[in-house]
Amino acid sequence: MVSTSSKSLRYEDLVRNIINCNKCPLHKFRKKPVPGEGPLDTSIMIIGEAPGRYEDEMGRPFVGPAGKLLDYLLSLAELKREEVYITNVVKCRPPRNRDPRPEEIESCLPYLVEQIDIIKPRLIIALGRISGKTLYELMGRKWRGMKAEHGVIIKGKLGDLDLTLIPTYHPAAALYKPDIKKILEKDFSTTIKEEVKKIKSNKVNVRRKNLLDFINQ
Ligand code: SF4
Repeated sequence: MVSTSSKSLRYEDLVRNIINCNKCPLHKFRKKPVPGEGPLDTSIMIIGEAPGRYEDEMGRPFVGPAGKLLDYLLSLAELKREEVYITNVVKCRPPRNRDPRPEEIESCLPYLVEQIDIIKPRLIIALGRISGKTLYELMGRKWRGMKAEHGVIIKGKLGDLDLTLIPTYHPAAALYKPDIKKILEKDFSTTIKEEVKKIKSNKVNVRRKNLLDFINQ
């Protein structure tokens, strides 16, 4: 079992590497890199695509209007932001919010893989096409496009880790598109909420079992 302190040390090292990273051209355009934030002992990770303007200014993921919408969507799944770890596929803002290029994703991907390995989530919610496709590929699956894949529950392996992946649209895409917002509301209040419920009740059962084992010792 990995101790909390060695987990934290490994994470601190990772954040330091991201902050000093110049592996791809995106480092030239960023104000602040955005490694991610949230508890390291969570079972749930949210993975977006890339930092936007507000994130780049603050060095934090999902702030600004898309972040507010994400908070609302999380509440539909009975989740609070403090309960999840939030990051992006690439950690530096692409100029004018263009899509990150394949070679930029490839350069940055080891950081995401390490974050997943440190946190060992049981559920990943992938926000947006780039995030969904990247995670599908990491899990050895073929991406059929967001229309077909949003809200679908994927059980599989990422390295040695057994996990559930649910892709859906990026909240930024819903800011000016009410039809996308409706789809997001449905995904968060149905499939995502159900998976969150399962994870939470499993955690309670594990705690109860540990307590009973301790009492019966
Ligand atoms: S996007 Fe990733 S790989 Fe590129 S400079 Fe930033 S941290 Fe490094």
